[in-house]
Amino acid sequence: MTAYDWVVVGAGLTGLTVAEQLANGQGARVLVVDQRTHIGGNIYDEVDDNGVLVHKYGPHAFHTGSKPVWDYLSRFTEWMPYEHRVLASIEGKLLPVPYNFTTLEALLPARAESLKAALLARHVPGSRVPVLRLLEDTDPQIAEFGEHVLDVVFRGYSAKQWGRPVEELDRGVMGRVPVVLSYDDRYFRDEYQAIPLDGYTAMAARMADVDGVTVALGEDGHAAIAANPRARALWTGPVDSYFAHEHGHLPYRSLRFDLQTRDERRVQPVAQVNYPGTEPWTRITEHAHFSPRATLRTTLGVEYSETHVPGVNEPFYPVHDDESRALHKVYQAACRELEPKVYFAGRLGDYRYYDMHQAVGRALQLVPSLVAGTALPEAA
Ligand code: UDP
Repeated sequence: MTAYDWVVVGAGLTGLTVAEQLANGQGARVLVVDQRTHIGGNIYDEVDDNGVLVHKYGPHAFHTGSKPVWDYLSRFTEWMPYEHRVLASIEGKLLPVPYNFTTLEALLPARAESLKAALLARHVPGSRVPVLRLLEDTDPQIAEFGEHVLDVVFRGYSAKQWGRPVEELDRGVMGRVPVVLSYDDRYFRDEYQAIPLDGYTAMAARMADVDGVTVALGEDGHAAIAANPRARALWTGPVDSYFAHEHGHLPYRSLRFDLQTRDERRVQPVAQVNYPGTEPWTRITEHAHFSPRATLRTTLGVEYSETHVPGVNEPFYPVHDDESRALHKVYQAACRELEPKVYFAGRLGDYRYYDMHQAVGRALQLVPSLVAGTALPEAA
């Protein structure tokens, strides 16, 4: 039996990045286990019966401003240039989100010119302003405009996505989708935006295809750690599940996808259409946009958000509020006690709303501390 130096629990981006770095850079023997029967965590994609490469856990559009992160992943994949553009179904029209000047002119035509002038008097043209900043503006015209954006883009969508009123939403979550003071209709403005040419799963498989890394799928993390008592461990699953929820359950949101076939090549102008209205779903993803594969039929993923129930559905998003932050602090203290034998990282392990590039950036940042057995640097 191989004597492993490390057990990495979770074969998602965080786990794979750390495993690859430990094996490639340090010559460590790393066992990566995942309870799922596939690699990649939530970036996993697979070709369905329509020939469409489906992002099984929802739309993943890669973007980063970090050259080191871009260069790192570029070792494992070629890229299809792709800039994410999202439309929202508002008042019967498909309009750009983030809300931009096109959205403004379509929804408030009579006031568009004066609003644009007022906004540009306050902010640099092209800037991306959090809607909460608009609401706080002392100019009543701008504050009222903020209320309008809140109503048409955020109120309905957030109630569905988070199961709570928009007023109770974390500032950071709201800030992810700003108001854009230009006609730029890209969802992100990062320098590097693309999708792995042959998919995320293929990229993940190449990350794991390194001397020293062994991947075991359908394996329980606790069992793998127990079976390798000399190894140190990195846990990228839900932090509270490591501790068998002994201090309580951290709240997460879960997602459900209803995959539907349409006998047409494309039905949506873009990969993602959001539904901030009264429909029970939050968004519909047309996966064929994410790949250069030519297909005759198309697959739609109708997305519903639900409360996470352990053992029933999967945790996707941490739900941050005062109570969950306080509980997470308790778990963080428990985590520190286990270092340097066991470390925690990743969206679920850190209980943070990381995007893919942030997960990779954080994982790269952690490696020296893991190797040295020292405390991890604070997450940004
Ligand atoms: N959001 C919204 N309406 C939209 C898009 C986003 O209200 O049309 C809010 C919602 O609360 C969502 C958050 O902004 O959870 C972050 O959106 P993002 O697109 O970053 O979510 P993700 O793709 O990570 O699920």
